[in-house]
Amino acid sequence: MADSKPHSEFSSLNLLFFSFFLFSIWNEPIFSDESKLNGKQTKILKETFVYLESIEPKKIKIEKNTYNRHSQFETFFKFPFSGKKLSRWIQTRIKKYSFGSTGDYVAMYQDGEVLLGRGFFNLNRLDRVLVLLHEARHADGKLYGHVVCPEDFPYLNTRDWKIHPAGKKGCDALPDGGYGITASFLFELGAYGFLNQTEAAYRYNSEISRIIRD
Ligand SMILES: [Zn+2]
Repeated sequence: MADSKPHSEFSSLNLLFFSFFLFSIWNEPIFSDESKLNGKQTKILKETFVYLESIEPKKIKIEKNTYNRHSQFETFFKFPFSGKKLSRWIQTRIKKYSFGSTGDYVAMYQDGEVLLGRGFFNLNRLDRVLVLLHEARHADGKLYGHVVCPEDFPYLNTRDWKIHPAGKKGCDALPDGGYGITASFLFELGAYGFLNQTEAAYRYNSEISRIIRD
C-alpha cells in the first residue's frame, strides 16, 4: 500500500493527458474548412425540421390503385409515412452539422457529420428536407454510396444548374439509396395532397432519374 498514493497521482495525471488527447481528436474537423453553423444557419436548420414534423398524413387524395402501384415509403423506411418519424430517422443518422465549401455538391456526409454548403441555406424548406434525407441515407453504409452517372446523362440538377451530374459520382444503382428514398417521400407528399400532382411528379421523376441500371 506504500506506493498507492504516488501511483494514483500518476494515474490521474495520465488520465488527464489521455482525456485531453481524446478531446483533441474529437474536435478535429473532418472537412478541411468547416466551421460551426452561425445563428441564422442554425435557425434555418431548425425550421427545416419543424416543417418536416408538421407533415402528418390524413386522407389519400389519389386513387388507391395508383397509390399502391407507386408507394414505396413503408418498404424503404419500415414505418408508415410520417414527418415526425422521418425527422427522428434523420436525427439518429446525422449527429453533427457544420458549414463549409462543398464544391459540386449542396451537402456532404462523412462519419455521422454533414457539411452544408452556402447553397443549402438558399433552398426552400422542401429542398432542404430532401437534402437532409439524402445525406442521412449515407449513414447506412458504403452500400448506399453513389455510382458514376453516364457521360451522356441528360438530366438537369433541379437545385443547381451549374452542377452537371454527367460523369460524376451522383447516381445510384440501388432503388432505395439517397435518390430512391427522396422519391418515395415526394410520392407520399403528392398522394396526401401536401404538393400538387404536377410538382410532386416532376420532383419525383427528377430523383428517380438518378437511379441507373447498368
Ligand atoms: Zn449522396
